[in-house]
Amino acid sequence: MISKLQKGWATVAAGAALGCAGLVSLGRAQQGPSAPAELQMLPVQGNVYLLAGAGGNIAVQVGSQGTLVVDTGLANRSEQILASIHKLTPKPIQYIINTHVHADHTGGNDTLRKAGATYTGANVTANLTDVKLGAQVFSHDNVLQRMSAPSGKQALRAFGDWPTLTFFGDKKQMSFNGEPIEILHQPAAHTDGDSIVFFRRSDVIAAGDIFLTTTYPFIDLGRGGSIQGEINALNNIIDITVPLRQEEGGTYVIPGHGRIADRFEVVEYRDMVTIVRDRIRAGMKDGMTLDQIKAAHPTLDYDYRYGAQTGFSRPDAFVEAVYQSLAKSQ
Ligand SMILES: [Zn+2]
Ligand SMILES: [Zn+2]
Repeated sequence: MISKLQKGWATVAAGAALGCAGLVSLGRAQQGPSAPAELQMLPVQGNVYLLAGAGGNIAVQVGSQGTLVVDTGLANRSEQILASIHKLTPKPIQYIINTHVHADHTGGNDTLRKAGATYTGANVTANLTDVKLGAQVFSHDNVLQRMSAPSGKQALRAFGDWPTLTFFGDKKQMSFNGEPIEILHQPAAHTDGDSIVFFRRSDVIAAGDIFLTTTYPFIDLGRGGSIQGEINALNNIIDITVPLRQEEGGTYVIPGHGRIADRFEVVEYRDMVTIVRDRIRAGMKDGMTLDQIKAAHPTLDYDYRYGAQTGFSRPDAFVEAVYQSLAKSQ
């Protein structure tokens, strides 16, 4: 495990520099700070690779049938993302899965979809790129709602970024490259449209921004996130990860930002989020105001590890999001 995790370390800086929180409100024309030049393609396990450095982490599953990607990074890195994937495999992208709506995970949807190919079924061998169908883009239906519906009076994401096929309810199952893949909806967690993607044969989970190795989670209350949903989702990831031995190895988890992790690290993260939530809840029960709770630094012992300098994963921003989420649910 050590070598695998050390290999992943190089991605930390890239993930942190392009944290989700800072990019959430940005549209396609404006994509944040200057990005690092190099993308990194790292083998994770089985048929699954991690492409890091283009915004949110991208999982790439390869095989004889074609290519499937989980998330598409920032719009302004799309050509580099495509070049990196083509270096790994000549097979066209057939499926794109979005873990959630944020632009650092869906910004490349249009470009990657158009570069992909749709096969209409097992009996049709022709590549239909000619008719510009492109790849299918899957997500939970709430991702489409968030992209296509106005928030306030301002709309949204360009049509070309929208998912082409959405699901309702708990999950969608599919098989691709001989591997069962489960897209598992996590209600009201980081947003209201989060899915984790479980590659069952490769034994890899792409967690989206429910799990980060870089910072505190960002609970996007404005897009339907909640602290209890975040904790539930982390528990759901823990439920389906199986360590190889002594809590290490086995199922690997690709975070939304940061390096490849395993069950043990998700457990640590879940514990941290739960402990901070409990401290804030205790303060609220004692009648403390938000300012008083912030002044008591309920995250202090974790700030060195997870406190971001800027954006929604700053310690005080995380505390405020948890407070507001708890206040809403009371
Ligand atoms: Zn993100
Ligand atoms: Zn996000």
